[in-house]
Amino acid sequence: KFITIEGPDGAGKTTQAGKLVEFLKSKGKRVIATREPGGTALGEQLRKILLDPEGSPVSSAEALIYAACRAQLLEKMVIPALKEGFIVICDRFVDSSLAYQGYARGIGINRILQLNKWVIGTYWPDLTILLDIDPAESLKRLTGGKDRLEGETLEFHQKVREGYMKVKEMFPERIKVIDASLSVKEVFEKIVEELEKTGILE
Ligand code: C5P
Ligand code: MG
Repeated sequence: KFITIEGPDGAGKTTQAGKLVEFLKSKGKRVIATREPGGTALGEQLRKILLDPEGSPVSSAEALIYAACRAQLLEKMVIPALKEGFIVICDRFVDSSLAYQGYARGIGINRILQLNKWVIGTYWPDLTILLDIDPAESLKRLTGGKDRLEGETLEFHQKVREGYMKVKEMFPERIKVIDASLSVKEVFEKIVEELEKTGILE
C-alpha cells in the first residue's frame, strides 16, 4: 500500500508521518518512509535546488523539477518497495504539485495533472491524508530552516490551502481530510481511523 501525507507548510506532515511509521512497525508491518522533494540521491540534490533562497526557477521549470524528482523516487524507491510488499509512507507527493504549482503558482491544476499522469502511471497513492489547517496558524509552528518559500506571503499559503481543497474534490475517494489544528495525538488518532477504514491495517 502507498500512503501519502499532504498539507500546507507547518501542518505537521513530517511529525505525523514519523508517528505512523512507528505505529505500523509496532504492528509488525514492513514500512518504508520517504519524502518529497527528496527521497533519492538525485531527489535530495534537486531538493537543494528547489529550496535554495537564491534560486528562482520560472514556474514551469519548478513544476518540471518536482516531476523529475517524483519520477526518480517512484522508480528507485516506491515501486520496488511496493513490489516487495512494503507499506510506503511519503511525506508530500503529487497533490503538493497540484496545490502549489498547479493552483497557487497559477499553472493550472489540470496541466500539472497531465504531466503527473505521465510520471505516475498506475502508481497513484492508495490513501492520502490531507492535514488541513489555516496557514495563519500553521506557519507559526515552523521553527526555522531558511528556504525559498519563507519569503512567500500568507496569501500564497492561503491559496495553497484552497488548492488542496480543490484537489480533494477531484479525488474524493483517495484523499481524506483531517483537521490539523487539533493536538498531535488527536490528529494521529484520526489518521489511524482512516487507515482502519481502508483496511490497510489488516
Ligand atoms: O514539506 P517540506 O518542508 O519538506 O517542503 C519543502 C518546501 O517545498 C516547502 O516550503 C514547501 O512549501 C515547498 N514545496 C513546493 N511545492 C511542492 C512541494 C513542496 O513549493 N510541490
Ligand atoms: Mg515537513
